[in-house]
Amino acid sequence: MKYKIAIVGAGPAGYFTAQAFQRANNKEHSFSIDMIERLPTPWGLIRSGVAPDHPKIKTVSKVFEKIARENDFRLFANVELGKDVSLRDLREAYDIVVLATGSPKSKKLGIKGEDLLNCLPASSFVSWYNGHPDFSDLEIDFNCDTAIVIGAGNVAIDVARILVNDPSELERTDIAEHALKSLKSSSIRKVIVCGRRGPEHAAFTLSELRELPELDHVDVIFDNHQLNDATTRVDKLGVIEKDIRLNILAMKSIAESRKKGLKRNLEFRFLANPVEIRGSQKVEEVLFSSNEIAEGKIRPSGQYFSINSGLVVTAIGYESEDNLGLKVDGGRIVNIAGHVEHNVYVTGWAKRGPVGVIGTNKSDSADVVQLIIQNLKAPKNCAGIVSLLRSDHKVINQVGWDKINASEVIAGELSGKPRQKEVDWNRLINLGTIS
Ligand code: NAP
Repeated sequence: MKYKIAIVGAGPAGYFTAQAFQRANNKEHSFSIDMIERLPTPWGLIRSGVAPDHPKIKTVSKVFEKIARENDFRLFANVELGKDVSLRDLREAYDIVVLATGSPKSKKLGIKGEDLLNCLPASSFVSWYNGHPDFSDLEIDFNCDTAIVIGAGNVAIDVARILVNDPSELERTDIAEHALKSLKSSSIRKVIVCGRRGPEHAAFTLSELRELPELDHVDVIFDNHQLNDATTRVDKLGVIEKDIRLNILAMKSIAESRKKGLKRNLEFRFLANPVEIRGSQKVEEVLFSSNEIAEGKIRPSGQYFSINSGLVVTAIGYESEDNLGLKVDGGRIVNIAGHVEHNVYVTGWAKRGPVGVIGTNKSDSADVVQLIIQNLKAPKNCAGIVSLLRSDHKVINQVGWDKINASEVIAGELSGKPRQKEVDWNRLINLGTIS
């Protein structure tokens, strides 16, 4: 029996879902897959989330391209669910719909001053430097000495590295041209990453921390007192996850290493809870309440301090969008093991919330596909997406994406980059639809 599957979202979770269906093809059931993507380009966070100085992570795109070349796989990019097609119609047009739409919105701090100019959520800043066509016009003022990044997770480290590193290090990456140009004229020489809890609570992964001493143009600074206090607290607790101990050791090794006296500094401060962002129109200062840890509990110490800064990026996690009429809870679409309602399933960040690295989506998507197969009924006579789109809708299919991809790679070759991204919606659509 043959089933028609719609996967919405051409990021890692979407491709790994397609791969799991392809691997499940057998004599009893086979699957034809239509992957639907809002942007004119596929690859999701691999293209617009992963930092440009992390090219190894991006090599998974080769796996995506292999999946896309299998039989019974079609790409429908430049098609937006909720605008060009409704979820209701899509459900009718397919046996199964899998939402792999991620958690695209940044969480808000909810404090005074968050809407001042030059206070940006990481989702905007990251999309901007990665050439996401919705963010290529974002105006950011880098004419200040110090930037603050709020949050102690991997996104905060990515953002801080891009802000503080010497832009010459980014010249041979796929960073968007407009971002490289702005970073070259940036006056920022100090970036302070602020976590509201202790070093032992930081969400950094070890590999991200271990990369920091390799930044040739940046002195990285951790407060040894804060790290010693964290070690004491961790020792008192006795059994504690190995990752936490290794993280603290990595931070301590950086704290104790000799500084090179460089002009570019990346500093980490813990127990710093932002309470207000101040400035007249534009960010000028962030007020923090100092936290303390007593009997394992975080509480305000009653002390405050402020840091002058002309740019603030909040990297405090992501949320799902609730524009499809589905229930959203924090960072995920409400689901049971991936099942949402009727023939609608969810996978990736949209399923479990914004946690986990790219590879986490592989096992997650395989589990969802297994559940879908268990729940399969007889196939319907489905019309598919073409019946739902206006006849003049400019779909970018795999051939169109191949053209965009080739054009970017060729443009990048001239300057020794893996690619030079096209960042304009109309030019992307033209490139992807010319015959
Ligand atoms: P994250 O890992 O959840 O970290 C969010 C940070 O924001 C935490 O330190 C959290 O502190 C803090 N935070 C949350 N609400 C806050 C508030 N109101 N005020 C101050 N701080 C607040 O999220 P992420 O950095 O966005 O990363 C998302 C996922 O992508 C993670 O699984 C991450 O590992 C992954 N990722 C991986 C890579 C890589 O592998 N290279 C790169 C980027 C992202 P609390 O703990 O106190 O809540």
